[in-house]
Amino acid sequence: MNINFSKVQKQRLRELDAPLNLQEKSFSSVQDRDEAFRDIEQQLVRQGKQHLLEIRNTSRRPALCELETKLTNVLVKNGFVQVVTPIILAKGMLAKMSITPEQPLFKQVFWVSEDKCLRPMLAPNLYYLLGEFARLYEKPIRVFEVGPCFRKDSKGGHHLNEFTMLNLVELGSPEERGKQRLEELAAIVMEAAGIKDYQLIPASSEVYGETVDVVAGLEVGSGVIGPNALDAQWGWVDPWVGIGFGLERLIMVSKGHQNIQRVGRALMYFDGVRLNI
Ligand code: ATP
Ligand code: MG
Repeated sequence: MNINFSKVQKQRLRELDAPLNLQEKSFSSVQDRDEAFRDIEQQLVRQGKQHLLEIRNTSRRPALCELETKLTNVLVKNGFVQVVTPIILAKGMLAKMSITPEQPLFKQVFWVSEDKCLRPMLAPNLYYLLGEFARLYEKPIRVFEVGPCFRKDSKGGHHLNEFTMLNLVELGSPEERGKQRLEELAAIVMEAAGIKDYQLIPASSEVYGETVDVVAGLEVGSGVIGPNALDAQWGWVDPWVGIGFGLERLIMVSKGHQNIQRVGRALMYFDGVRLNI
């Protein structure tokens, strides 16, 4: 007989982030199955509690905070200037990114008033600042921001309504080195995130046209090699490369989690641990 975990048991195993092969296990009797369930549940609960203790008793912080610190340090060390820009964005800034009502991303925007929204991306603010920096700094100019972004994304294991984006841009490095720089910059971030196994795959975006996705089982980042049709209106025209990464996705991959909810901003989870244990 092939008996699988019941719906309720599967739900609990998912909550506790049991490995997929355990969730799919089959048994020859209900008794065997229920015993196995109790054992696995107990073990996962123990692991979760252990993790919570570790956070309290050591200098460890939630993975999302630790990754942000790590990425910030490594980028600053590589000559990037960190910027901190407003989370509330004017509608006009979206329009300048060609995100107008006909565009799919427009429908995912959270509006706080008629002409102000929660930023769905960091790019418009970085474009704006680079317009200022292009006058003030010698090239190449390297900037990055890491912070919250908001999108009404269809719920699923890879999307959050609020997530943490890292966007880095290098403006004014030689155009013929664009592809190589993109690879080098992706490598800096992926190494800091502890992910060895990834690929750069050509893709396309409604906003930028041609892009290069950073894929590690799932998309963790999207890069662009400029110049781009959008650039001129922001007051600069040099070659550039930029990549936007989702920090929660990077953590999902590096820690082997099956859904993104447990690593994002949450009340049901703390640093990946379901709290009803
Ligand atoms: P997807 O196609 O997976 O929805 P995207 O291509 O729309 O993502 P981008 O605009 O390229 O996303 O954003 C850059 C990165 O930000 C993505 O590669 C991903 O890591 C992250 N990201 C985007 N949307 C979300 C979301 N809703 N939740 C979590 N991370 C996200
Ligand atoms: Mg993308």
